[in-house]
Amino acid sequence: MSIPYSHSDYTPLLSGIPSSSVFIGGKFVATAAHQTVHGKANGEALLDCGAATAVELDSAVAAARAAFPAWANKAPAERAKVLLAMAAGLQNKFRAFVALESNHAGKTIADAEIDIRASVATLQWDAGCAERLDGRVVASAATIHRFVRREPLGVCGLILPWNFPILLLVWKLAPALAAGNTVVVKPSSETPLSTLALAALAGEAGLAPGVFNVVPGPGREIGMAIASHPGISKVSFTGSTEVGVRVARAAAESVKRVTLELGGKSPAVILDDADLERAVIGTAAGVFGHAGQKCAARTRLVVMESVADEVVEKLVARARLLKIGDPMDAATTLGPVINKGAQQSILAYCANGVAEGARLVCGGKAPAGLSGPYVEPTIFDHANNAMKIAREEIFGPVLVVIRVQDMEEAIRVANDSDYGLAATVWTRSFARAHQMAARIEAGTVSVNTPAVIGIEMPFGGYKQSGYGRELGIEGLDAYLQHKSVVMDIS
Ligand code: NAD
Repeated sequence: MSIPYSHSDYTPLLSGIPSSSVFIGGKFVATAAHQTVHGKANGEALLDCGAATAVELDSAVAAARAAFPAWANKAPAERAKVLLAMAAGLQNKFRAFVALESNHAGKTIADAEIDIRASVATLQWDAGCAERLDGRVVASAATIHRFVRREPLGVCGLILPWNFPILLLVWKLAPALAAGNTVVVKPSSETPLSTLALAALAGEAGLAPGVFNVVPGPGREIGMAIASHPGISKVSFTGSTEVGVRVARAAAESVKRVTLELGGKSPAVILDDADLERAVIGTAAGVFGHAGQKCAARTRLVVMESVADEVVEKLVARARLLKIGDPMDAATTLGPVINKGAQQSILAYCANGVAEGARLVCGGKAPAGLSGPYVEPTIFDHANNAMKIAREEIFGPVLVVIRVQDMEEAIRVANDSDYGLAATVWTRSFARAHQMAARIEAGTVSVNTPAVIGIEMPFGGYKQSGYGRELGIEGLDAYLQHKSVVMDIS
């Protein structure tokens, strides 16, 4: 039997982070301002983390610029070695990172374990990419030699949300470093600790000072300052669409490359020939995992009328099986939402759903007897796609069921959204699976599985879910620029 996680598991990581400090040039640097980071189940103070100002950001950018030439010019195999050493270091501290991520992001232990495992795998995969980085020789006349070089961009600013603190960091960090860039990272103020701990670990793994800098701080100041900083060549942002638009606007002033991974209102479509048992299990996992706080959560269920009653009944039964509670308790299957403000916002959406006439069939309230920011798994049946609960990202465990007559209507409803991050289709028909996969407007379509991603495949949005891609070769390319070289060798 596995040993239960406890708070003491992450104590060594926290004791490695001095209070009121940020990470610049390979060491922790004291800041005048600080922010207290809290555990999400009990609200206890975990650490007074440093809060950067423009002064610390300038030093972080200066450190990253100074480190860039040596890192960019290293043999790619040497960069790969460091990435592999980081992966090994993370694997060695698996329990500590799982426990920290669980408490400071409010993730269940099972979710946190998936994140750390995937982070290790991503570092390893990008190490392989570094070793295989190549250019292209272009067919030319005998006296001409032409080739395309792929070169790093310089300093990349990485701005992160709180829902997958370490995994989304690694999605950006690993390809950025593999390609030869240096980085300045701004984690969310809710969850800066695992980012700081990973920066310290990277140093132990042999990453040179200045290659990976971390400046936690208020988004409006430090996030904005990264987006507009003249010393930064690219900004990769994951977060809400509203803030992403501001980041892109600020980045445009200095013509920075921008990758935006934004919000979603992703559909799960259940057709009448689907394996309903599997569809229900997958749909529940797709919306209630991490209490619905996933950009690609399948929050709209588009279901054919002929199977809708059975599906909704089974979903409600499944929702009732979830065990709500302390995320660090291994028995918990539904943890808290990120804070009280988020809880209030989710409950307000639920009240709005009722007011707009959707039928609340379970949840819609905070569970009795728990003082943290918890929300019961919630299902609205008989909603329509024009309702606010069907159009806006709620970012909580709330499923909105929209009944349709046939596949054409299902596609129309699935695509009737400002967002286009992901979708799931449940059907036994190969023909329908292929038609749906081709016609759904989303960056990722999964069929008969709630799985969203693989490291080897690009992940990103259509429409207002963003642009640019992470993961896969496309994600690596986002940290490279191409130079065409033409030589007369006559
Ligand atoms: P958020 O937009 O509030 O914050 C994201 C980051 O931006 C934080 O670090 C924040 O401090 C910073 N920030 C805030 N205001 C800023 C400003 N004016 N300028 C620059 N930076 C600023 O998002 P969040 O609440 O942390 O995360 C949840 C959101 O992230 C959801 O909308 C979710 O869908 C999205 N998300 C998308 C993906 C994806 O891959 N598409 C993945 C995870 C989360």
